[in-house]
Amino acid sequence: MSTTKYPHLFAPLDLGFTTLKNRVLMGSMHTGLEDGNKHDRLATYFAERARGDVGLIVTGGYAPNRAGWVKPFAGKLTTRGEAAKHQQVTNAVHAEGGKIAMQILHAGRYAYHPLSVAPSRIRSPITPFTPRELSTSGVEKQIRDFVRCAQLARDAGYDGVEIMGSEGYFINEFLVTHTNERTDQWGGDYAQRMRLPVEIVERTREAVGKDFIIIYRLSMIDLIPDGNTWEETVALAKAIENAGATIINTGIGWHEARIPTIATSVPRGAFAWVTKKMKREVKIPLVTSNRINLPSTAEQILADGCGDMVSMARPLLADPEFVRKARAGRSDEINVCIACNQACLDHTFANKISSCLVNPRACHETELNYIKATGSRKFAVVGSGPAGLSAALVLAERGHEVDLYEAAAEVGGQLNMAKVIPGKEEFHEMLKYFQRQIELLGVHVHLNTRVTAETLTGKNYAGVIIATGVVPRDPKIEGQDHPKVLSYIDVLRNRVPVGERVAIVGAGGIGFDVAEFLLHDGHSPTLDLDEWLADWGVVDPAEARGGISPRRTRPKSPRREITLLQRKAGKHGATLGKTTGWIHRAVLKMNNVQMIADVNYERIGDEGLLISYGDKRENPTWIDVGHIVMCAGQVPLRELQEPLQAAGIATHVIGGADVATELDAKRAIDQGSRLAAGL
Ligand code: NAP
Ligand code: SF4
Repeated sequence: MSTTKYPHLFAPLDLGFTTLKNRVLMGSMHTGLEDGNKHDRLATYFAERARGDVGLIVTGGYAPNRAGWVKPFAGKLTTRGEAAKHQQVTNAVHAEGGKIAMQILHAGRYAYHPLSVAPSRIRSPITPFTPRELSTSGVEKQIRDFVRCAQLARDAGYDGVEIMGSEGYFINEFLVTHTNERTDQWGGDYAQRMRLPVEIVERTREAVGKDFIIIYRLSMIDLIPDGNTWEETVALAKAIENAGATIINTGIGWHEARIPTIATSVPRGAFAWVTKKMKREVKIPLVTSNRINLPSTAEQILADGCGDMVSMARPLLADPEFVRKARAGRSDEINVCIACNQACLDHTFANKISSCLVNPRACHETELNYIKATGSRKFAVVGSGPAGLSAALVLAERGHEVDLYEAAAEVGGQLNMAKVIPGKEEFHEMLKYFQRQIELLGVHVHLNTRVTAETLTGKNYAGVIIATGVVPRDPKIEGQDHPKVLSYIDVLRNRVPVGERVAIVGAGGIGFDVAEFLLHDGHSPTLDLDEWLADWGVVDPAEARGGISPRRTRPKSPRREITLLQRKAGKHGATLGKTTGWIHRAVLKMNNVQMIADVNYERIGDEGLLISYGDKRENPTWIDVGHIVMCAGQVPLRELQEPLQAAGIATHVIGGADVATELDAKRAIDQGSRLAAGL
């Protein structure tokens, strides 16, 4: 009898020539460690995940040739010399009892360099480079390069390869007329357009032999207007199965799709139904994917017959021990990925090595470690926002005694406001994790306790960590003490009732958050899959090409008329995450939020908010609103620092108390953890 709470998740998967120990596939994710010679860091990173019992790891993408690079000098596997270096990675994973496949990724027209090639000379909306159209023999060469890359991966000790056929990259580009206008044997009707992936899989199988895993990542729903029909997708899946693939993995949406697929506001398991449709069509194992971040969600998805395995990439960045903890009945100890993208994908787009907002060690395992302290000392941490909590937990993990002081009645600081924003429910998981770790590590929490320098002296603290956070900035607008004026704290924390017409002063992260909170009035489309799909116009791909409704449904009438203002010129939300800012802007647009930039705040009065534009201050206009919510940024609160230093106590200032500008949980957690790792 199974003793696990997750019998489907922990059932081994027999692939004929090899068996995977469970149904968790660590999905491919580019971390930046693939580029250059960072094999030691990659080996340590993957070995931790293998030790954590992941069933099958898939690496980030490696190009089969230079043209297929994602960006200049991106990781590729084209020579024996490169293959030899990969052995450090495969050996490290195998030493931990794990299995690892290498993803072969040809970027096609998504490549961010001038050598890019594609079926046709059509530039993508997300890159500035127009690809060169391949000749017929050029296509042949790409196939040979895929095959050679797979052979080299086998030589390097990988257990398999994943052939990246989705997300709008090279292979995917052959499948649809959107990007394939060829008239030779690689274009034309669908049978011709799908020849490329089939040949790649067939010839790869021939070259690598029977006992090597070939995963084919197949775009099950393109989410672009002229994407594949369901019939076409099924035909491809069957052909890929016949061509010798071992497993089919699910790809959701092209990168140029304007529908969110992995952001935190996407409901958990939002696309598992698409893979489930395919279950009827093929016999080989199917992997389902996207927004699966808890063992319970994964188990339910498998129990519902949506796939044979679940793919999780970011959740394993967040916690390398995810699988092991789930199996041991310690799911409440999992550091849950909140799908924010802030330290993983946003880093990739900024050409930085990935990390993880909730786990700064991710991809930094060789340099950031929480090593047991030689002698236990006593520390005070003041403030239990993300910075203070992280510092307290790392100190305790290292064997120090920690008093955590919090003026409020609960820990979490600004996280308690973030969690009430529709689409940001995952912050609840972060808070649960912190709470559980506080218990496990024995941090002494003192709630409702506003400390002073006097109360902290004479307690033998080896140091005081000041993580007292921020206070709202005073925007100094004439008439700002009018009863119409509220702060974001009044709205999000104190739940002061807000009228139907609202102006928001400040369009930073919190201005956007307040707008979304007021638009939905406590309701969250993220918690209702049908509503969310309808809001974004996603339909069954059997009903419409690419799974996009031709009559793209929009949300119902907004509950409030909102005007979101900023003084700077230019688009709103420019400081929001690269991979998520557009989603926040799109939601506000769908709900008719007026976004006005380049304003001066002249005055607040009974009529509402008086604004003028740019340098022309002579003709100001009133925005007739019942409430004006101030979201004008924040300033540090660190009044404890001076008196503590005067009393001769070592102090360390972190988080918003250190620098409030553009503070976010990523910086707070990273700073708190790194400080505590070194004390
Ligand atoms: P913020 O992002 O710094 O934005 C402050 C806003 O206030 C800006 O729009 C700024 O625009 C305006 N402002 C600044 N000084 C002003 C003044 N004197 N009078 C009127 N307006 C003024 O700060 P925040 O919104 O408080 O957010 C705090 C941090 O939390 C940010 O780093 C944010 O990224 C993060 N956060 C992130 C998210 C997310 O979704 N990733 C969500 C919430 C919070 P103008 O100067 O142009 O007027
Ligand atoms: Fe998940 Fe955010 Fe960490 Fe990325 S940075 S792995 S999305 S928690």
